[in-house]
Amino acid sequence: MDFNDTPEEAAFRAEARAWLDQNAVVRAPGKSRAGLLDAESNEVGLLKRSKEWQAKKADAKWACITWPVEFGGRGASSIQNVIFNQEEGRYDVPPSMFGIGQGMLGPTIMAHGTPAQKERYLEPMLRADEVWCQLFSEPAAGSDLAGLRTTAVKDGDSWLIKGQKIWTTGAHYSDWGMIVTRTDPRAAKHAGITYFIVDMKSPGIEIRPIHQINGSKDFNEVFFNDVRVPDENRVGAVNDGWRGAITTLMNERASIGSGSGMGFGVSELLRLARETDWNGRPAIEDPSVRERIADFYWKIKGLEYTGYRTLTALSRGTTPGPENSIGKMIGAPLRQELCAFAMELQGAAGATLDADATWRRGLAQQGWLGSPGLRLAGGTDEILHNILAERVLGLPGEVRVDKDKAFQDIPSGTVR
Ligand SMILES: Cc1cc2nc3c(=O)[nH]c(=O)nc-3n(C[C@H](O)[C@H](O)[C@H](O)COP(=O)(O)OP(=O)(O)OC[C@H]3O[C@@H](n4cnc5c(N)ncnc54)[C@H](O)[C@@H]3O)c2cc1C
Repeated sequence: MDFNDTPEEAAFRAEARAWLDQNAVVRAPGKSRAGLLDAESNEVGLLKRSKEWQAKKADAKWACITWPVEFGGRGASSIQNVIFNQEEGRYDVPPSMFGIGQGMLGPTIMAHGTPAQKERYLEPMLRADEVWCQLFSEPAAGSDLAGLRTTAVKDGDSWLIKGQKIWTTGAHYSDWGMIVTRTDPRAAKHAGITYFIVDMKSPGIEIRPIHQINGSKDFNEVFFNDVRVPDENRVGAVNDGWRGAITTLMNERASIGSGSGMGFGVSELLRLARETDWNGRPAIEDPSVRERIADFYWKIKGLEYTGYRTLTALSRGTTPGPENSIGKMIGAPLRQELCAFAMELQGAAGATLDADATWRRGLAQQGWLGSPGLRLAGGTDEILHNILAERVLGLPGEVRVDKDKAFQDIPSGTVR
C-alpha cells in the first residue's frame, strides 16, 4: 500500500487544484456539500447550479475526465479521476446530479452504441445539456433484473414499449432514458432482452413520483403505454441487450464502490458531541460517548485504509479486487449505525426532522433516513455477500432453477 502521490500524480493534483482555485471557492470547514438538504424545494435550483458547474468544467476539459478524448474527455486514468474528485470535494460546488448518465449510460453507449448514437448523445451528456435516467428495475425485477417483464414489440421501423419501471432516479427531470425490455419471451430470461434509448418526453410515458421517508422525491414509477421508439435508438442487437445491461451494471458498481465518503462521519459526530449539552456538560465528557465514538473511529479508519488498497491498485494500473465491494458492504450499515447514534445524542430532538430544532438542520437524521437506500442501490447487502461467497471465496453457487428455461415457462404470479 502506498499513501503518497507519485510525482506524476502530484503534478496532476497541482494542475487540478490550480484550475479549481480559479473557478471555485474552498468550502468553509464544517459546511456540508451544497444542496444536500431540502432536496425537494431546492431541486430545480440545484439542477440549474449543477448544470452550470458541469458546463464550466466541460469548457476547461475537466468534465468526465476518464472519457476518451474523442468523446470530449481527457482519457484520464481512474487514479486521476479519484484525485480530481478529492480535490473538487474541497470546494463549494454543487454535487453532480448526472452520475447515472455520465458514469453508467455513457460508457454503455461508447461500448455498444452505433457511431450515430455516439455522435448524437455523448457530448450533450458530458456537458449535462441533456440529463439521463436508468430504466432497469421493475416491481418484480430488481436483484433479479433478467426477470423483467416490460415488453417491446416491433412495429414497422419502430418498437412499441409497454410495461412499468420503478425506482427510476431523476426520471422527472431527465431528457433521455435507457431501458431494458423483453423482446423474446420464448428465449431463456437473459437471452430475450433488448436495450433502447428512449426520449422521456415521448407520448405514452407517465411518471409518478415516489415519496420517500426523508421527504424527498428523488425517484419514480414510470409507466410505458405503447411508447413508440425508433429502431435507430436500439443499443446493440435485438435480443442481445443483456450484454449492454451488464456493461451498465459493472459501471454502476464501480461508481458506487469508488465511495463518495460517509457524508455524516466521525468528525461531524465529534462536533455534535462537543456542541450537545448533557446535564450542563458537553456530551463528549461522558466516557460512554467517547467509547462509542472511538469504536466508530477505528472501524471507519479500517475502511479508509481498505480504500487505499483500491487506490494503490488503481495507481499501479491494476484492477482493484473485492475490497471495492467491501467498502459498500461494510460502509453503508456503518453509516446507518453512526447516524443512529448521532440522533440518540440529540435526545428528543433526534426524533424530529424539523430543520430548526435539530443539529445542523437534521444532517444526522437525513443521513440515517438515506442509509437504507445505500444498502440496496447497486447491489443489496445480500447480493454483495453472494458475490463475495461465489467469486472470492469459491463457495458453491446459488441454485438457479430458471436459468435455461424459456422465460414464458417460468412460473409467476403475474397474468401474461
Ligand atoms: C437510492 C436508490 C436509487 C435507485 N435508482 C434506480 C434507478 O435509477 N434505476 C433503476 O432501474 N433502479 C434503481 N434503483 C433500484 C435498485 O436497483 C433496486 O432496489 C435493487 O436492484 C434491488 O432490487 P429490489 O428493490 O427490487 O429488491 P429485491 O431484488 O426484490 O430484493 C428484496 C430483498 O430480497 C433480497 N434478495 C433478493 N435476491 C436475493 C438472493 N438471490 N439471495 C439473497 N437475498 C436476495 C434482497 O437483498 C432484498 O433484501 C434504486 C434503488 C435505490 C435504493
